[in-house]
Amino acid sequence: MKFASTRNPQKLVSFKDTVFQGLAPDGGLYVPTTMPDMSKLFEGMNEKTSFVDIAETITKILASDELSPDAISRIAKRAFPFLPELKRLTENIHILELFHGPSCAFKDFGASFLATTMEEFLNKEERKAIILTATSGDTGSAVAQAFFGKKNINVVILYPSGRVSPLQEKQLTTVGGNVTALEVKGSFDDCQNMVKKAFVNPKLISQLPLTSANSINLGRLVPQAFYYIYGFTRTKKSPTKATYFCVPSGNFGNLTAGIYAWKWGLPVKGFIAATNINDVVPEYLQSGLFKARPSVQTLSNAMDVGNPSNFERLMALFANDWNKIRTVIYGEVVSDTETLETIRKVYEEYHIFIDPHTAVGILAAERFNRKSSNDNSDIIVLSTAHPGKFLETVEEATGKKPQLPDALARALKLPKQSVLIENSSKALENFLLDTFT
Ligand SMILES: *Cc1c(COP(=O)(O)O)cnc(C)c1O
Repeated sequence: MKFASTRNPQKLVSFKDTVFQGLAPDGGLYVPTTMPDMSKLFEGMNEKTSFVDIAETITKILASDELSPDAISRIAKRAFPFLPELKRLTENIHILELFHGPSCAFKDFGASFLATTMEEFLNKEERKAIILTATSGDTGSAVAQAFFGKKNINVVILYPSGRVSPLQEKQLTTVGGNVTALEVKGSFDDCQNMVKKAFVNPKLISQLPLTSANSINLGRLVPQAFYYIYGFTRTKKSPTKATYFCVPSGNFGNLTAGIYAWKWGLPVKGFIAATNINDVVPEYLQSGLFKARPSVQTLSNAMDVGNPSNFERLMALFANDWNKIRTVIYGEVVSDTETLETIRKVYEEYHIFIDPHTAVGILAAERFNRKSSNDNSDIIVLSTAHPGKFLETVEEATGKKPQLPDALARALKLPKQSVLIENSSKALENFLLDTFT
C-alpha cells in the first residue's frame, strides 16, 4: 500500500518512509492513500482470534509489498507480548484496559510496533538509526521501553529537569542499555526546540542517522487500530446490537486509529470523543468552528492539548466535511470535579480503581448512554492508563491507594541514570557527536 501527506496526496511514499520520516517534509501528516475493505475478514474473526493474529493480518494488508510474510509475523509476535483486557462494567458498558504493557499506558502498543518494525527494516538493510525525541513525561517512557535492546538503534530522550513527576523520571532514567536520558536545564518547550533544531542541523544530519518516534508517526497510529478490532470481537454477541467506542482524547491519535478500523469495515456505529475541559474538538463538533487555544492544566494531564496534532488527519478521513464527521463522532466534555466524582463512584459501585483519563471516558459513555436511551448497544470505553500511575488523584477521590504495577515498582527501586545538559542546541550537538561518532 502507498501513503501520502495530508497536504500533497499526489506524492506517494512507502510504508518504510512514513515510519522513518514521521512528519512529511511539507509539514503534513502521512495517511494511507486507499482504504481496503476488510469487512469479510472481520466477519471471520471471533473471540478466539488472538491479538497477534489480528496484528499480523492487518499488517500484511498494509505492508506486504515491503516486508515478507515472515518478517510481518516476527513483528506481530515481538511487538505484542502484552495484551488488552476487556472488563464489563455495567449491562452494556465495557472497559478495554490498554495499560498492561511496559510503561502501563496505551502508548505502549504504538511505540512497540514502531520500534519492532524499524528494527526489522534496519536489519534487512544493515543500517543504523538514532531515535531523538523530547518528552514532557509519558510518551518518553513508552518510547524508552519499546526501543530498549533493539538492534542497530540508539535512543536519546530529552526531558525537562525537575518538571516531570518523580515516577515519570524513574521510568525514563532507569531503562539504560541503548537508551540515554538527557536531563535538560529548561522546559519541555526548550527540549522540543533542541530536537527540532537538531533535525535541521546540516552537520548532525550529514553525520548521524537521526530519526524521530513522535506520536504523529503513522507507525504508531496503525497498531492502535488493532485493539478496536480485538475489543469488538470480544463483545459482539448479537448481530443486532450496535457497538460504540468511547475514547479519552488529547491529540486524537487514538480516536483516529479507531476511525481507520471503521473505514476498513469494522461495523462500529459511532465514536464518543471524550475530553477534559480542553475541548476544542467537541466544540467543533457542536459548532462547526475549530478554534485552537492554549491548553489548560487538568487532572487528566495527558489530554491537556489545545491544538490536537491529529485533527488534520481525522478531518482528512471525512473529506473535511463537518456534516459527515458529526454522524460518526460525538463529543462529550468532563470537568475535573466530575473526574474525581467518577473515580469515587466507580470504586464504590464496582470496586475497581480507574485513572483520571479513563474516568473522563466512563462518564462520557454513561452520559451518551442516557441521551441516546438505547440499551440495545454496547459501549467500549478505552482505558488508557493504569490507576497506579496517578496515585495522588486516585487517593484523593477514593481515600485508598491503588497498587503500583510491578513494572513501575521495580523502576522506583533502580538508580536514576541521566546526563545533565545545558538548554542549548550546541550542547545537544556536542553530546550527539561525542557519543555517536
Ligand atoms: C496520550 C494519552 C491520552 C490521549 O491520547 P491521544 O491519542 O493523544 O488522543 C489519553 N490518556 C492517556 C493516559 C495518555 O497517555
